[in-house]
Amino acid sequence: MARVYNFSAGPAVLPEEVLKEAADEMLDYRGCGMSVMEMSHRSKVYDTIIKEAEADLRTLMKIPDNYKVMFLQGGASLQFAAVPMNLMKNRKAGYILTGQWSKKAFAEAKIFGEAVELASSADKTFSYIPDCSDLPITDDMDYVYICENNTIYGTKFKQLPNTKGKLLVADQSSCFLSEPVDVTKYGVIYAGVQKNVGPAGVVVAIVRDDLITDDVLEGTPTMVKWKTQADADSLYNTPPCYGIYICGKVFKWLLKTGGLEERKKINEEKAKILYDYLDESKLFKGTVEKESRSLMNVPFITGDDELDAKFIKEAKQAGFENLKGHRTVGGMRASIYNAMPVEGVKKLVEFMKDFEFKNS
Ligand SMILES: *Cc1c(COP(=O)(O)O)cnc(C)c1O
Repeated sequence: MARVYNFSAGPAVLPEEVLKEAADEMLDYRGCGMSVMEMSHRSKVYDTIIKEAEADLRTLMKIPDNYKVMFLQGGASLQFAAVPMNLMKNRKAGYILTGQWSKKAFAEAKIFGEAVELASSADKTFSYIPDCSDLPITDDMDYVYICENNTIYGTKFKQLPNTKGKLLVADQSSCFLSEPVDVTKYGVIYAGVQKNVGPAGVVVAIVRDDLITDDVLEGTPTMVKWKTQADADSLYNTPPCYGIYICGKVFKWLLKTGGLEERKKINEEKAKILYDYLDESKLFKGTVEKESRSLMNVPFITGDDELDAKFIKEAKQAGFENLKGHRTVGGMRASIYNAMPVEGVKKLVEFMKDFEFKNS
């Protein structure tokens, strides 16, 4: 068995330890005689799995008691609709546009009400986070929306926007659990777990209690109303049982390895190795303004499409997979999520140095 260094943006690398443990438990989960895939979501055993997952996530993120944690389906993309359907009482909200995912959320919100562009970095192909200290937020807005880490363009909000007292809603899909966050600064945090935490098919939503009500937009489907799953502790219908089980293991792995403070240090160390090289290289260069650089997704280019293609091909042959940039932006992108070891980034940089030497 040879595992590659997988730099995929998502679904992405998971801790090897977690995968091995899951493999060991595949046929017989702790003496149950069946796989977690095969058991009732109403069973006692599964109840322990989902409750522990939630408890561990609460510990990791220090989630206050007045926030609900939900394990949902439909991807982060369904939350693009769930957010306005659950929150747009005045049918008006502000959106900060920092890339494809916030644009998609913005377009979805327009189905339900007036979505206002508060700021955008589209003028420079989303290569920076705009100044959000004094946005044109009006009193009648129900919330302010951000995509906190922009998976495709490789930017991250280093400072949350000044929402002028309005509720902050954040799509944290690609930076979820990569560093500590102050949950109390948000009304809603949600994340598709396939970027940094688990297998595709699970979305974690962390929503403040008072925002979970029956007062939703007319026509909101039962399954899109947060209250449905909040009241049922994520068991209104069959949840993505196996995915939640793997997420639970990843939460335990994060706790065991020092929690989010420690994780942030490791992620900063990894990102520094790659960015420092990009800054000194004569061949490769990063595409993002320094102050906005993501710790998770690092896009870079040579400036020559043919050379980019050659690099991606040779990297793959050397065991560095999924380095091709998003289909809409080209170039390269290394996603260096929690489960990518420091060694993987060091080896990638060695390979890049060697490639630079041979191609200049
Ligand atoms: C991948 C991604 C999405 C889309 O997630 P799905 O689960 O495929 O719907 C949304 N937002 C961000 C920031 C992402 O990285």
